[in-house]
Amino acid sequence: MFFAKLPSFGRSLALRLTIWYAAIFAVSSGLAFAVVFALIASFIAERTDEDLRQDLDEYTIHWRQEGIERVTKEMRFDTQGKDARKSYFRLWGSDGRELAATDLTAWPELARASQRPLPETGNEPLLETRKLESHEAPVRTLIGSVGPGVLLEIGQSLENDEEFQRDILRGFLLGLAVVLLLGGPIGWFMARRALNGVKQVTRTANEIAGGALDRRVPVGTTGDELDQLARTLNAMLDRIQSLIIGMRDMADNLAHDLRSPLARVRACAEMSLANGEAQGESNGARESWAVATIEECDRLLQMLDTTLDIAEADSGAAKLKLDRVDLAEMVLSAAELFQTVAEDRRIGIATSTPEQCWIEGDRQRLQRVVANLIDNALKYTASGGEVRIALREQAQRVLLTIEDTGVGIAAEDLPRIFQRFYRCDTSRSQQGIGLGLSLALAFVRAHGGDITVASTPSKGSTFTVVLSRPARGFSTQGAHGAPAFSGST
Ligand code: ADP
Repeated sequence: MFFAKLPSFGRSLALRLTIWYAAIFAVSSGLAFAVVFALIASFIAERTDEDLRQDLDEYTIHWRQEGIERVTKEMRFDTQGKDARKSYFRLWGSDGRELAATDLTAWPELARASQRPLPETGNEPLLETRKLESHEAPVRTLIGSVGPGVLLEIGQSLENDEEFQRDILRGFLLGLAVVLLLGGPIGWFMARRALNGVKQVTRTANEIAGGALDRRVPVGTTGDELDQLARTLNAMLDRIQSLIIGMRDMADNLAHDLRSPLARVRACAEMSLANGEAQGESNGARESWAVATIEECDRLLQMLDTTLDIAEADSGAAKLKLDRVDLAEMVLSAAELFQTVAEDRRIGIATSTPEQCWIEGDRQRLQRVVANLIDNALKYTASGGEVRIALREQAQRVLLTIEDTGVGIAAEDLPRIFQRFYRCDTSRSQQGIGLGLSLALAFVRAHGGDITVASTPSKGSTFTVVLSRPARGFSTQGAHGAPAFSGST
């Protein structure tokens, strides 16, 4: 069981991270220790030399004060007991004759070589490190003058220093082993915890790949990079899901909405055929069936074109032809175009715009947005009503409001009016296919803007188009105290 799991264990990022961190930690601690160790070693060596020099100074004073008697006494005193193995003293005449020496039993090779040739020392004492067969550790020796024609040789085993350095090394290795043994599992545990978020993302992605479109990555509370990744992924999944649902709804609605016009086209063709067979029927009647057929076909084509335009804008595939556009001029021209229709229906149109209002946008698409909203306002307002169109500039954005005193929209319908083919029950008597608002919203969103709506049934509605200039990407709240809803569906 354990071995069966080994391959995936080896591939685990947490394990590799832990090993990497442990290796980096061990190498860097080793380097740091090497530096500290070298400093300590050089400090100890300096201290040993310093001790030897101090001894030489003391013996020089003894020599000056009381001569060889006192010096010999002090030498014996300093090497009593076990210290005899660790240090020795010898006095030499300048002719190379040994004048006195401490017990050299522990230093056989020195005892044998009593005629040790003395180096030229001058005034400065000579320090060297020697390796003797009788001693495992090296010996530090000093030869210096204590009086005229008299030289003192002091030998000091470095056994204690080496033992001390070995203790430090042992302590370091022990500490490193403990840290690695304890830190390894802790590091692995921490790395696994940190990578838990990645696992959750993988798990969710697998579930979604398996068809569970509504699954989302759990978002933690720390707000770290993984939480941000989870949030971004969830937002992307929401968007994908809403596009899929939108496409499914659109296909359903399209199939449903195509049925009636197609049935009418078929009926027209049948009537035309039947009437053609019936003798005595006039050409005029046949012509009117043909005209009806063409009108129905035009309606169908328009519906398909609009559906494609929305899909293109929604998917982000629509390439905006960006231009400098004077929105004030565009709004006034549109209001003028609708003036005749408004007069026929005895609806007043009031406009309020700044003299100019430049934004960057796709002229044709923005014209269709404005036209759709004014057309709706007139369509859903009874005779005697009023439509007010206002354009306002704010710091980084432009607000276009189209307010009417029409039938209004029920609160439960507000979230749905931007969906494709959605029509409120109250407006079934009016001509329309339920695509105008979806198209307007898709075009405005393609510009980085948004549309909000506030409405009170039987009193009227206010649609607000928010466009940025020139920065993109924001959304706003409803402009009225009445139920408000953004174009988000
Ligand atoms: P259509 O007008 O072709 O039905 P739209 O997409 O333009 O389609 O509008 C969707 C629905 O929103 C309309 O059917 C209507 O019920 C409602 N609606 C849109 N604009 C208004 C308005 N100004 N006043 C009242 N209802 C509106």
